[in-house]
Amino acid sequence: MVKKRLAALREGFSLAGIDGFLITRPENRRYMTGFTGSSGVVLVSGDRAYFITDFRYVEQATNQAPEFHIVKHGLKMTDTIREVAEEAGIGRLGFEKDVVTYKQHETFSSALAGIELIPTEGMVEALRKVKDEHEIEAIRQAEAIGDAAFSHVLDIMRPGMTEIDVALEIEWFMRKNGAEGIGFEVIVASGERGAMPHGVASSKKLAEGELVVMDFGAVYQGYRGDMTRTVSLGKASPMQRKLYNIVLRAQEAALEGIRPGKTGKEIDAIARKVIEDAGYGENFGHGLGHGVGLAVHEEPRLSVTGMEELVCGMVVTVEPGIYVPGFAGVRIEDLVVVSESGIRNITSSPKELIEL
Ligand code: ZN
Ligand code: ZN
Repeated sequence: MVKKRLAALREGFSLAGIDGFLITRPENRRYMTGFTGSSGVVLVSGDRAYFITDFRYVEQATNQAPEFHIVKHGLKMTDTIREVAEEAGIGRLGFEKDVVTYKQHETFSSALAGIELIPTEGMVEALRKVKDEHEIEAIRQAEAIGDAAFSHVLDIMRPGMTEIDVALEIEWFMRKNGAEGIGFEVIVASGERGAMPHGVASSKKLAEGELVVMDFGAVYQGYRGDMTRTVSLGKASPMQRKLYNIVLRAQEAALEGIRPGKTGKEIDAIARKVIEDAGYGENFGHGLGHGVGLAVHEEPRLSVTGMEELVCGMVVTVEPGIYVPGFAGVRIEDLVVVSESGIRNITSSPKELIEL
């Protein structure tokens, strides 16, 4: 797996005009090496691959990244990068321009004098977009933990609990059931707060008659789940039910429309049209979905700017929403794998409006 990824990365070297590549983004580091620790950089040349880390991680890296030469750096990591780059005969070293800070660039420039630094973008991210079966399995497990947490929280949610109570319950359940952590801060947004698409749980108490939006995901083997469900506390009003059904129709239409060869923009447009036709176009102010993997938001995007064509093995969310300030929000999000026949939906929680 690592060998295949290294070969694929090197295939991009000539187009990028580089003969070596320095990886500093944590997700890219993990993807390329299998190393799960939190410090180290990867340096890949045409025929060599190095993992440069400090004393604390040498043993772990030796175990987890056997395809790499493990190099321990001293006080100044950049000196070690220079030595290794010279040993590998690198003259044009690509770096991740959206990761390296201005200050790091200054440091690299002075320490690596004689080696040309070439800004690149998306070299590893392009590989990460399409998942292999092991990655899909990890994401499926993460999402299954999320599904179980949702079903658990339905049993205990009641008016009077705070949003934070609900969020902690989701988080605790996920951790207790195999999650390494949470992929992002749990969103629980009830009543009027639901109109904030990213309403992280607050101390507001849930009240009878409110819609509650919950958006969360577990981490499993480094991979993220991501799902949203909106439920009603008590019987939903006709207006709440109307909004819910529009979002559900939009989501189902988009899921139906996904297949290899379609662009993210085309799928976004399907959901957007349903919501616009219902008169709520102004209330759906975000993209339809995003890729999910080692990061919770990655390529491709299902949005008005998503020009990329979907291919089998991409894992994307489909999450239309309607947000009415002063009233409520509704969002429904599933995680799906693009497949030959369309999609495989890996979120299994029910989608009819649940009235607690
Ligand atoms: Zn989400
Ligand atoms: Zn999402």
